Order: sequence, then C-alpha cells, then structure tokens
Amino acid sequence: MAFPERFLDELTERNDIVDVVSQYVRLTKKSGANLFGLCPFHSEKTPSFSVAPDKQIYHCFGCGKGGGVINFIMEIENLSFPDAVAFLARRANMPLPEEAQSEDTSRRARLLELNRDAARFFHDMLKSPQGAPAQDYVRRRAISPAMVTRFGLGFAPDSWESLANAMRRKGYSDQEMFEAGLVKHGKSGGVYDAFRNRLMFPIRNIRGQVIAFSARTMIGEEPKYINTGDTPIFTKGSEVFGLYEARKSIQDKKRVIVVEGQMDVIQLSQAGFGEACAPLGTAIRAEHIERLLKMTDHVIFSFD
Ligand code: ZN
Repeated sequence: MAFPERFLDELTERNDIVDVVSQYVRLTKKSGANLFGLCPFHSEKTPSFSVAPDKQIYHCFGCGKGGGVINFIMEIENLSFPDAVAFLARRANMPLPEEAQSEDTSRRARLLELNRDAARFFHDMLKSPQGAPAQDYVRRRAISPAMVTRFGLGFAPDSWESLANAMRRKGYSDQEMFEAGLVKHGKSGGVYDAFRNRLMFPIRNIRGQVIAFSARTMIGEEPKYINTGDTPIFTKGSEVFGLYEARKSIQDKKRVIVVEGQMDVIQLSQAGFGEACAPLGTAIRAEHIERLLKMTDHVIFSFD
C-alpha cells in the first residue's frame, strides 16, 4: 500500500534514528557528528556501523548496508516496508493513514446521527404544547402541515439547554454537539444551545441526511436567519436548501427554480412548484450552480 508523503515525513521525524538504532546497537560517539557501534548485520569486532543524526541515516563501512530509519527496521526486524511503517507508527503512537481515515468516517457518521436526532427533537418540539409560538407563526405564514412534514420544520425552544440536555440523554457529548454547531461554549466553560426561540429548517444533503440547520427568528430579531457554521459535515458556501426535497420535481419538470430564502422555497412548493430551492449563504456561487447543473440544465432564477 502507498503511504502519503506527509505521513512518512512525520513518521521519520517522530522516530529519531539514534533512538531507534540505540534499541539494538550500543552507539558511542566517535568521529565528528557521527555515532559508531558494532554492526548488527554482520559479525565484527571493531565498530564500522555508523549513524549520522543530522542526516537521519545509518551506514555500515563493513557490509555496506545503509539507509533511513524505516529501512533499518525492515532489515533488523525482517519486515516488509508496510509492516516496518506500522511498527514505527506504533512506536511513535501515530495512527496509520487508513486508521485515521476510518476514524474520520466514524466521526462524520456520528455527527450525522446527532443532526438527525436534533432535527427530530426540534420537530417534536414544534408539535408539542411548548411549540405554540412556532405553531402560531407557521399558521400566520400559511404554511400547511404537509409542508411542515415535507421540510421537517422544527422549533428550538426559548431555553439555554433544552437541546443540549435532550442530546446528552441520547449519549452525545458536549464536544460532539459543539463540533456539529448545535451548542456554543459559555464563559463558565459549559455549553448552551446555539439556536433559541427560532423556527428550525433542517438542511439535508442530496442523500437526505441532515447536515446543518437554518434558524429563522419569529419575533423580528436580527439576524433574521442563523445558519450552522462550517463543520466537518457542512460547508455553507456550497449547499442548497431544499434540493433533496425538490429532487423528484426537478427530475419530472426538468428544471429547477432558484429563490432567495427558505420561506420562498416552502411557499413555492406549497403552490405546486416542488422544484424550488435556495442557496445558503449571502450570494450564489459557482459551487451552487455546479450542484444544480448536475441535476438539470434548465435553471430559473427568481430573486427579488
Ligand atoms: Zn555491517
């Protein structure tokens, strides 16, 4: 298997050749910067095996063997290159790249689960007696119950720890909630809910997974919308709200209507234009357009 250059650089940096060789050979300083010892690869009585700390290499003047730290471990432990790399990675307490990658994959999966559970919490809240302010708001804006379900709308209660407590009960750590952008750090070191007293719009990726939230004020607060900041699973500058919900209509009608805000998407959808969506962020960018053009080449912009 191929290891990334950067990983191998770090591996050799963190396995000083003098330290590694010293575990097998008694080294004594002899000439200049170099250390000498009895060669472990051939039998000898006077040291001809040298290590150059500045160059991080070894060389035997008797049998001619030489190389870097990885090569030394291959020779002395009789290991293949990948096994020698794994050996030194363990020694330096470094995860191997594929392990690091699977760690990253499971971390992302965990954040997606957390977002899904948070979306359920907000949605349940909207339907509960506590959700009365949001229910009023939805009614005033003439959003039908079908749209509430279609877009998974929710309500973040006017409270500092409703979501945090609910997610803790589900086994999520404060750190995970922080990484997902669902909580912020308070001055006392604890965390508090990032979204309070707002109508919640889950942002789904094209596979339908909740990757972030957009939260709209219902009482005229500024800013009108708060979005999740960038997280390991969400890059605001390239996401489009409503694309997952719109995907079937886009296919059927062979077009997409791009509008400015989440409420526009919902109202158009309710009026029979299920192919509407809205870019997240303040401006439409090339990344947004690329995403839309993957689905249809008929893109209609409808901005104020
Ligand atoms: Zn030798």
